[in-house]
Amino acid sequence: MTQDTSGTPRYSRAPQNLEREESQLWRWILLFMVLLAAGFAALAWERLESLPYHLGPAAVGVFVLSILLAAYAYGRRKEVSELKVLLHGLQERVGAAPSEEQLDQLNEMIARSQRSFKELIDSFDDAACAVSLDGTVRTVNKSVSLLLGLHYTDIVGKKLSDFLEEPSRTTLEAALARFLDKKHWTGTVRVRLKNNPRPLYFECVLNAIIKGGEVVGASVLGRDVTGQHEKEMRFTELFETMQEGAYFSTPEGRLLDANLALVGILGYATKDEFLALDPAQLNMNPAETPVLGRAIDDRRGVRGREITLRKKDGSPAVFLQSSRAVWDASGKLIRYQGTLIDVTERRKLERQVAQQEEFRRHLLESFPDLILVVDLSERYTFVSSRVSDLLGCQPEDLLGKKISETEDHSSELAIMYREVISGAKSFGSAEYAAKHRDGSWRTMRASASQLFDADSKLAGVIVSVRDITMEKKFEQQIIQSERLAAMGAMIGGVAHELNNPLTSILGVSELLQDSQTTDAARKQIGILQQQARRAAEIVHNLTYFSRPPAPGKSRVNLAEIVERTLNLHSYSLRKNSITVDFLPEPGLPYVEADPHQMMQVFLNLILNAEQAIREIRERGSLRIRLGGGGDSVWASFQDDGPGIAAEILGNIFDPFYTTKRPGRGTGLGLSICKAVMKEHNGSIEAANAPGGGAVFTVTLRAASAASQSA
Ligand code: ADP
Repeated sequence: MTQDTSGTPRYSRAPQNLEREESQLWRWILLFMVLLAAGFAALAWERLESLPYHLGPAAVGVFVLSILLAAYAYGRRKEVSELKVLLHGLQERVGAAPSEEQLDQLNEMIARSQRSFKELIDSFDDAACAVSLDGTVRTVNKSVSLLLGLHYTDIVGKKLSDFLEEPSRTTLEAALARFLDKKHWTGTVRVRLKNNPRPLYFECVLNAIIKGGEVVGASVLGRDVTGQHEKEMRFTELFETMQEGAYFSTPEGRLLDANLALVGILGYATKDEFLALDPAQLNMNPAETPVLGRAIDDRRGVRGREITLRKKDGSPAVFLQSSRAVWDASGKLIRYQGTLIDVTERRKLERQVAQQEEFRRHLLESFPDLILVVDLSERYTFVSSRVSDLLGCQPEDLLGKKISETEDHSSELAIMYREVISGAKSFGSAEYAAKHRDGSWRTMRASASQLFDADSKLAGVIVSVRDITMEKKFEQQIIQSERLAAMGAMIGGVAHELNNPLTSILGVSELLQDSQTTDAARKQIGILQQQARRAAEIVHNLTYFSRPPAPGKSRVNLAEIVERTLNLHSYSLRKNSITVDFLPEPGLPYVEADPHQMMQVFLNLILNAEQAIREIRERGSLRIRLGGGGDSVWASFQDDGPGIAAEILGNIFDPFYTTKRPGRGTGLGLSICKAVMKEHNGSIEAANAPGGGAVFTVTLRAASAASQSA
């Protein structure tokens, strides 16, 4: 490097003084340079962390170079002083030809100085050379020789373009004009040597070599930063080609740099447009603190969180952010850097999945049937909330349990599951009884089919269960009423057919009785008549059942009707040793009723009581009470028989329901009573008496109340 040292020498001074002053000056220069270098180093060190990556080593390099030059200059000061004295001597004897000895001495000193200078620049790791303006290489150091693989002498004197592929001659010439103007240039140069196709990168410092005020060439100092540059290139390539967004920002959230992925995701056309943004414009709500910056008191380390940024079109983009803060040596937060993974679509999909899940759940929950999903190991994996209506329990009571583990489980359900899961049946159905938490038994109808997962692999069985208890009851009632209607039609016909022969039997037997002379014969004919009347009565009952006559209602006293019924049946009661306790209640209101039909009701109740008592003992009692209050009158018939088992209480009024041995009961008595009472807008109820036995209560509306409502 050549310095333009244009100081004016002071010839008037003595050589010794000059040397002393020279030496002192050198010392000052050295001290100044050391101080300057130290100051610069301290400044650079403090800023080192904040400097761009490639300038850090340059600062250190300049510092080391300053020290080396200072040391070299100090070491050579004596030599230079000697040279100056010599020159001074020569100048003093201007006009006088220098002696041979003086010239040798001068040559030797110059050669020594050149060697020293050469040694110095050879000791540099950096490439150093001097080039004249026409591109001729004037000198190079060892690093350049090694780089070109040529000896010093093969390089010096040749043109720079003889060794360089790049930069080309034209590029260099174009740059020359600018250089001549500034006389100094620093920067990174891409170099391709003719002997090596691999591009190299040099960080160069160029200074003009000035002679007589004219620029005659340039000194070039170049540091090979190819390794660093390649690293930077790789980093830049990675940064720019990443699928994820990446950014550097100030602590306030202003973007310093961002990769193309992030620019594209947020809908900006160019990086410049994106980097020029006000950080608040990236917020969905611009009033909030910029999302990319973070609080000054943040702990060091990587922070992961989900953030929402505003796209150019105003729509939101959701990112998984992973960011870290960068601090300088003084502990000052200088920037943030982070990556952003776009999860907008994923979140959208997750929301859709959640919505679909919710829809599916609503669908299943609003389904009128109970939906069950049973897995391959027979465990309930889904139970819809309808289970609380059907079985009175909660889904959690079944979830995770096996069918066979649940309380009062039905074997039909388990069998159906096994048939479907094994593939024996593709669709299964079963009807079974299930116990509700309230203790009642319900009839369930279940349908099942195989359930497959997303990979079409068998995952279990889906079962829909419906409570058909009421349906079943209706079904039975319909069957019974149909059967009843058919029977009624048949019985009607039979009764009609029997009526005529029975009338004949009764008429002829009366005639016969009158003509008999012996008691025995009259008695026998009496039995014949009695049985014929009984048969006629049965036929009459059957006729009523098959085609209920329109009731001929009138105002009647219930006590009277009870009395008459008891009289009609007194013989049988006596024979069966049944004591009747009947207390007619005086002053009871009349009722609007068909007396014959009411007699039929009471007769049925008396007959049932008689039969019930006789089933368990030889004798018994029947307690008949009447009563009334307000607008109704009731009559109760309480026996001391076995009573009615609780589980059949609900069935005894059903047509054909009987517990009596075949031939003894038809199961029609109470159903006829119920039909009659219904026709009279009254009711009949059965219960067990507290002291044992059964009690039937018939209730009718009092005549005044009945006529009012009519
Ligand atoms: P049937 O008398 O032909 O059986 P009913 O309809 O009159 O038909 O009665 C139905 C059933 O009601 C009887 O089989 C019996 O089990 C029950 N029942 C009726 N009355 C009594 C009673 N007083 N005590 C006990 N059980 C009775």
